[in-house]
Amino acid sequence: MEYEIVIGLEVHSELSTKSKIFCSCTTEFGGEVNTHTCPICTGMPGVLPVLNKKVVEYAVKAGLASNCKIAEYSKQDRKNYFYPDLPKAYQISQYDLPLCYEGYIDIEVDDVQKRIGITRIHIEEDAGKLMHDEWETGSLVDYNRGGVPLIEIVSEPDLRSAQEVKAYLENLKAILEYINVSDCKMQEGSLRADVNLSVRPKGQKEFGTRTEMKNLNSFKAIIRAIEGESARQIEVIKSGGVIVQETRRWDDNKGVSYAMRSKEEAHDYRYFPDPDLMPIVVDEKWKEEIKNSLPELPEARKKRYISEFSLPHYDASILTSSKVLADFFEEAVAKSKNAKAVSNWIMGDLLRILKEKEMEIEEIPFPADYLAKLIELIEKGIISGTIAKKVFVQMFDERKDPGVIVKEKGLEVISDESAISGIILKVLENNPKSIEDYKNGKEKAFGFLVGQVMRETKGKADPKIINKLLKTELDK
Ligand SMILES: [Zn+2]
Repeated sequence: MEYEIVIGLEVHSELSTKSKIFCSCTTEFGGEVNTHTCPICTGMPGVLPVLNKKVVEYAVKAGLASNCKIAEYSKQDRKNYFYPDLPKAYQISQYDLPLCYEGYIDIEVDDVQKRIGITRIHIEEDAGKLMHDEWETGSLVDYNRGGVPLIEIVSEPDLRSAQEVKAYLENLKAILEYINVSDCKMQEGSLRADVNLSVRPKGQKEFGTRTEMKNLNSFKAIIRAIEGESARQIEVIKSGGVIVQETRRWDDNKGVSYAMRSKEEAHDYRYFPDPDLMPIVVDEKWKEEIKNSLPELPEARKKRYISEFSLPHYDASILTSSKVLADFFEEAVAKSKNAKAVSNWIMGDLLRILKEKEMEIEEIPFPADYLAKLIELIEKGIISGTIAKKVFVQMFDERKDPGVIVKEKGLEVISDESAISGIILKVLENNPKSIEDYKNGKEKAFGFLVGQVMRETKGKADPKIINKLLKTELDK
């Protein structure tokens, strides 16, 4: 029997407001343990939280950018559970009236478009951090992260594979980066996902029993967790077992998941409205203001690249998948006016080298106008395409202006015909066999001889001139 995987995601994203959600402590990552704290975010009795307006603005931005409806009236609730990193023993979140609801994000996998529903986006506070390894007889807790604002983006169970999940997360991450509400640094926990997963026989309507894997913070871990957990569930069902609804911990090093605790239902948290906080009202005027402040989003930018620059769909998708990359592309195009060439350099050499060196797009070491300059050097015939590839590598490694590299190394194309003629004669003298082959009609021999001349000139001779002169010489 064939099985289908059903996945819904809960993505937590830390908002990049300057201060925390209910106090004026900084949200900056790291810092000396327990220094970004005050009586409010450490949950002292008798303190009064005050909602940071920017948090609402950022959450509404995220909602509008993912096609959500915005609630005119919403409220905040206490979610009760005891955990040492949550000193109040409740988390302030939103229960039945989230700020944003009924949105969607479009994804594309293997050229197939699909719309993934977003159930809701709500705001809440982050918890502190437990450190288990540093103390032999106990654990330590750092409250610096406590009270950092989060949005939780809950998807519908519309995802059917690890590839779809990856595409969804990439699009979501790009949107949050474009609207500048989160730095989305997964390695710092700014973006993390809980994966709800079940399997069912293909064709069955009802969902199977789902498990939840919490706090996965890299694309690779998420994909491996989905593959591992779906295989485990199918195995259990095939051997006649039953899936238990529970929270499981994914151990990415071992590639297996472990049962952590039986799954809580919403009523286990005894939600109730937080009596310390006023309801949140987003009126039409404020909503419009936020809407008008939205930048061009990835999807719109992709369409524009296809129509304005005639780029292939695939290239436009890659270029717009990161705001940093798209901005880099546009800056280079503005200077060089050759979108196709800029796109080719980025899609080819730049992304390949970044991947080889395991670098992020944010780490591109040279400014966009260097790429524009390199393209100009080729267009003006100052360097050949082959040489340009070498200059590119050096530009990447040494962050040097390509014009300077070409001058320093004397890489300008040799277009002096007499100089090239001399080299051709020398090459012909050394390769009598190839001359004979050529005269017997072997096309390859000509290519070989061009290659030899190129080698002699270290790739600096103009190939058009070589071709012309070599032909004349051979046909003599
Ligand atoms: Zn504080």
